Amino acid sequence: SVRVRIAPSPTGNLHIGTARTAVFNWLFARHQGGTFILRIEDTDLERSRPEFTQNILDGLTWLGMTWDEGPVFQSDRIDLYAQQIQALLDRGLAYRAYDTPEELDAMREAQKTRNEAPRYDNRHRNLTSEQQAAFEAQGRQAVIRFKIDDDREISWTDLVRGTVTWKGRDLGGDMVISRAADTNGIGQPLYNFVVVVDDIDMQISHVIRGEDHIGNTPKQILLYEALEATVPEFGHTPLILNQAGQKLSKRDGVTSISDFKRMGYTAEGLVNYMTLLGWSPPEPMTELFTLAEAAKQFGFDRVNKAGAKFDWDKLNWLNSQYLHAMPVETVTDLLIPYWQEAGYKFDETRDRAWLETIASLVAPSLSRLDDAVEMTRYLFMPLEFTEDAKAHLQQDDSATALKAILAAVKPETPLTESEIQAIIKQVVKEQNLKKGVVMKSLRASLTGALQGPDLVQSWLLLNQKGSDRDRFEQALT
Ligand code: GLU
Repeated sequence: SVRVRIAPSPTGNLHIGTARTAVFNWLFARHQGGTFILRIEDTDLERSRPEFTQNILDGLTWLGMTWDEGPVFQSDRIDLYAQQIQALLDRGLAYRAYDTPEELDAMREAQKTRNEAPRYDNRHRNLTSEQQAAFEAQGRQAVIRFKIDDDREISWTDLVRGTVTWKGRDLGGDMVISRAADTNGIGQPLYNFVVVVDDIDMQISHVIRGEDHIGNTPKQILLYEALEATVPEFGHTPLILNQAGQKLSKRDGVTSISDFKRMGYTAEGLVNYMTLLGWSPPEPMTELFTLAEAAKQFGFDRVNKAGAKFDWDKLNWLNSQYLHAMPVETVTDLLIPYWQEAGYKFDETRDRAWLETIASLVAPSLSRLDDAVEMTRYLFMPLEFTEDAKAHLQQDDSATALKAILAAVKPETPLTESEIQAIIKQVVKEQNLKKGVVMKSLRASLTGALQGPDLVQSWLLLNQKGSDRDRFEQALT
């Protein structure tokens, strides 16, 4: 049966690349009726932090990447790794290496002067027990190295890249699988080893991860063999690239799922977009789809080898489609935290209907939720006038129009939409003004700008709060 996993390290917030790998694993598991497992790779105790774990769990949950098993924490499984390292030592497949950092540096320097690629020259592979004892007597600490045969050739059929072949001699020599420990014990086991022990133990059938791990796969295949386990299938998904065609990194600004969320992307829009980062749906399908629809169609035959360029316009477009299709209640719920964050004052319960009207007014123009903050500022905050609004309000026609409007609006009597229409008509007629001038004066005085959301709706909303008359008066002073 298909068993896949996502194995983030809690050394940072959930990264878009990791999340996209999660999406592909999840889609594949759902497509195959398999199991999607979450494993937290927290063996690096110095860099791992509980708040990052929480950020990862929250981000995956928000995106809808629900896991069937886990989260499993590597830090709970240290005994298992120690056992397996001991087994490799006992079988002569791994050994203790006592090189000091200075010796390793000198070795690399010498390789550099000979124009050779840096690698461990396996110098401690065949130490006698006397030599080992001598190093230990000097107080040296040993790492554990796993033997890599230079003459081996390692091949696998990658789900994305087809046949991939590596030569043993290109893997950098015998590899460290565990850091140094003080005594004869075993220090912190390292990624390539731990990941294999876990994937064997969890019976992972398909290892699907980012292309940045492709060089680890031959090493891991050798470990599967050494641990006498079945080698799983591997699939390396294309990297996410920035506009310059380089791997998307922290330097590109927003990279974590919580950043995208804060910026006002919806989970549905973002996950839809991530699905398209490296995968393309079969022909009759549009680019706008639910996770369930994508799961039905997903397969590695349509995953690209080439890196996937991050396209903000496409993300914004997809996100806008989700926002426009949402019920107004949902948009309102989503907008409330943005308004609160901006310091807008309202009462969530008492003002609910008013807030929903605002949400429905701006929803069609949103591509991100945080767009609403500026779009609706005039409804919550004292007005700030644009230069062209100010200029318009200084014209005589504008003053005439606003005086007439003010006379027509009774304080404390809420207006209806048709009453507003009637007032506009009446002012145009009685004052002999162009309708455009009246509308412009209304907009400038009510919103501080000459462009914005529907004017009649805006007026209604301000009238409901009793602030329309104040604004006409303010514009006339
Ligand atoms: N902890 C690794 C990462 O986040 C997992 C890689 C893998 O899937 O093997 O990159």
